[in-house]
Amino acid sequence: AGRNPGQPEFLQAVQEVMESLWPFIAAHPRYAEHGLLERLIEPERVVMFRISWINDHGDVQVNRGYRIQHSSAVGPYKGGMRFHPSVNLSILKFLAFEQTLKNALTTLPMGGGKGGSDFDPKGKSPGEVMRFCQALVTELFRHVGSDTDVPAGDIGVGGREVGFMAGMMKKLSNRADCVFTGKGLSFGGSLIRPEATGYGTVYFAEQMLKRAGRGLQGLRVSVSGSGNVAQYAVEKAMALGAKVVTVSDSSGTVIDEDGFTPEKLAELMEVKNHLYGRVSDYAQRAKVNFKAGIKPWVVPVDVALPCATQNELGAQDAATLIANGVRCVAEGANMPTTMEAIKRLQDAGVLYAPGKASNAGGVATSGLEMSQNAMRLSWPREEVDLRLHDIMVGIHETCVQHGRRADGSVNYVDGANIAGFVKVADAMLAQGVI
Ligand code: NDP
Repeated sequence: AGRNPGQPEFLQAVQEVMESLWPFIAAHPRYAEHGLLERLIEPERVVMFRISWINDHGDVQVNRGYRIQHSSAVGPYKGGMRFHPSVNLSILKFLAFEQTLKNALTTLPMGGGKGGSDFDPKGKSPGEVMRFCQALVTELFRHVGSDTDVPAGDIGVGGREVGFMAGMMKKLSNRADCVFTGKGLSFGGSLIRPEATGYGTVYFAEQMLKRAGRGLQGLRVSVSGSGNVAQYAVEKAMALGAKVVTVSDSSGTVIDEDGFTPEKLAELMEVKNHLYGRVSDYAQRAKVNFKAGIKPWVVPVDVALPCATQNELGAQDAATLIANGVRCVAEGANMPTTMEAIKRLQDAGVLYAPGKASNAGGVATSGLEMSQNAMRLSWPREEVDLRLHDIMVGIHETCVQHGRRADGSVNYVDGANIAGFVKVADAMLAQGVI
């Protein structure tokens, strides 16, 4: 902690992983050698830079840009860019550390990174967003590349922003190789990439429930957030027969006891992705109930899918979910559940999946986008979805293998942390002290 003052999210992520690893390392002491752990928690490189741009009124704006190149042990750095006013070094370092283990779990050859800016896209015109993205890339371009570091989207960065950044990258480098994933379909994007994180999270929850003897059919599901991950989690949960009763944003929650329908989801996507509106706007249009200032976790459900942001599900929320009979919590977001809340869920026997396992479908499909670009090919939708499904089933099996408790139940936190760690650690040991 002394080396990383003012970085609570980073320390939280490292502590959570280390709690899983201590007993494993005690049983496998070779992983305690060669400064492995000390090296694993130190990013290989951190780039911080100024982003100057001019708003629609002609005023100069200054934001801060970051790229955390955490680990290249397994492959090129890979991880999204986040645009949100809360972005700081602590949040991006936690995300880059998590990403390193997550990418290892996908079995694809990708290292871990993350980046972003404290830029707030809310209320900005399309022209301002484009000029900001271009200004960011005038510095970022010298640090990234198809075999060096391949960024993607995250909170506040969807297809539109990736397009602006990839366009500027191409102009500056005079090369058309794959430096960003999550691109539009007309210039190298992969089918199913927008859907992948949400679909993958639901595929993972399905596997957890299946192992416990049932499917999603007929279950009540709450989803938090209403962005990329949330929308496709809603779509896949519905497709598998569940009743989705909530979505949310930072201002409140939509509670829909009748459950989502494909028509309502299309309306939500229109409001969020084309009009850049709020869930309260959606609620008005779809004539459903919106409650300001509350989180989805007060609504009784069988399955909860947190798909918004870090630390959005605390100990009290976990207690409420448990009292209401929740069976499964699978994270679409990164670290949405606090450590105390995780403990409560696990102690109550709730199936709980950490994001690095359950939301890995997004980056896995980004890995498939890199492969398609390198081959100058584009796989059909069914093929990418099948590969995504197989990867999620594989990650679930790996978690079971490394996280099985004596009583036959599974600690998915230990399973994901240990499996991801072993892959990265073996690669680091083989490559010497660098
Ligand atoms: P989006 O920007 O598309 O959506 C983010 C959603 O979360 C919005 O509904 C937003 O509401 C809400 N949100 C953001 N910050 C807060 C906050 N402080 N409090 C309450 N709600 C908040 O992002 P994504 O869907 O891409 O990402 C969501 C999560 O999933 C993140 O944790 C991200 O790291 C993770 N993830 C994303 C992947 C991807 O492929 N996109 C891959 C793996 C993980 P509001 O508009 O009010 O801010």
